[in-house]
Amino acid sequence: MIMQNEVNKEQKFINIAKNIEDTLSVIKHTRSKYNINHEIKLLCVSKKQSIEKIIQAYECGQRDFGESYINEAIDKIEALNAKGYTDINWHFIGPIQANKTKYIANYFKLVHSIDREKILKRLNEQRDPLKGPLEVLIEINLSGQEQKSGCTYEQLESLINYAQGLENIKLKGLMGIGTLSDDPNLTDQEFAQLFEVFNKYKKQLKNFDILSLGMSHDLISAIKNGSTMLRIGSSIFGPRG
Ligand SMILES: *Cc1c(COP(=O)(O)O)cnc(C)c1O
Repeated sequence: MIMQNEVNKEQKFINIAKNIEDTLSVIKHTRSKYNINHEIKLLCVSKKQSIEKIIQAYECGQRDFGESYINEAIDKIEALNAKGYTDINWHFIGPIQANKTKYIANYFKLVHSIDREKILKRLNEQRDPLKGPLEVLIEINLSGQEQKSGCTYEQLESLINYAQGLENIKLKGLMGIGTLSDDPNLTDQEFAQLFEVFNKYKKQLKNFDILSLGMSHDLISAIKNGSTMLRIGSSIFGPRG
C-alpha cells in the first residue's frame, strides 16, 4: 500500500502539458540552430503509459502515439476508440513477431520496425484493402550488433525493392535506434550515416519522406541529422510503469 501511494505521489509531479511544451521548444530551437527547413513530427511514445496520460497529451493537441507491445496496444486503442478518441494515428514501433502481424496490419497507420521480407509479406496479405495501404518504414540496425533489431545496410536495397512490389504496403522511409552510449560522437556518426542513405533513396522513390530518428536522450543529434519524426516517451510521460 505504501508503495502504491509513493507511485501516485511521484506521478502527480509529471506535468504532461509542460513536458510537451518543453519538447516542442527544444525542437524549435534546435531546428533554427541547424537551419532545418522541413517539418519535424513529434510522435508521443505511450508504451507502458496509462490511457489517462494519453488523453492528457491528446488534449494538448497531440495525435500521433507509438506503441511497442501488441496486446497492450490493442487494449488501449480499443478503449480510446470506445471513448470517442477515433482520430489518433497509431504507430507500431516495437519488434514484430510473425504470429502478431494480423493485428499490426489492421490497428496501425504506420509501422516503423520492418526488418525482414517475411513480415512485409504477411502484413501485405493481412491488411484489409478497404483501409488503404499500410504505411511502413524499414528499420536499420545502426549498431551492427547481431542481437539488435533492424536489417543491415546490405539488406536494405532488396527489402526496399520487395516492399515496392506490394499492393497493400506503402513504403514511407527509414527508422533507426541510436546505440545507447556515453559518446555523443558515436550517435552523431550513426545518425549521419543513416541520413545519407535515407537521402539517396528519397531522391529515387516516390512517397519516401519519413526518417524516424531520435528518442528522449538523443533528439538533438537526430534533428541535426535530418530526422523528420522524433519518438519521444519518457521526457513527455515520465518513467514507464
Ligand atoms: C521506447 C521507445 C522510444 C521512446 O524512448 P524514450 O527514451 O522514452 O523517449 C522510442 N523508440 C523506440 C523504438 C522505443 O522502443
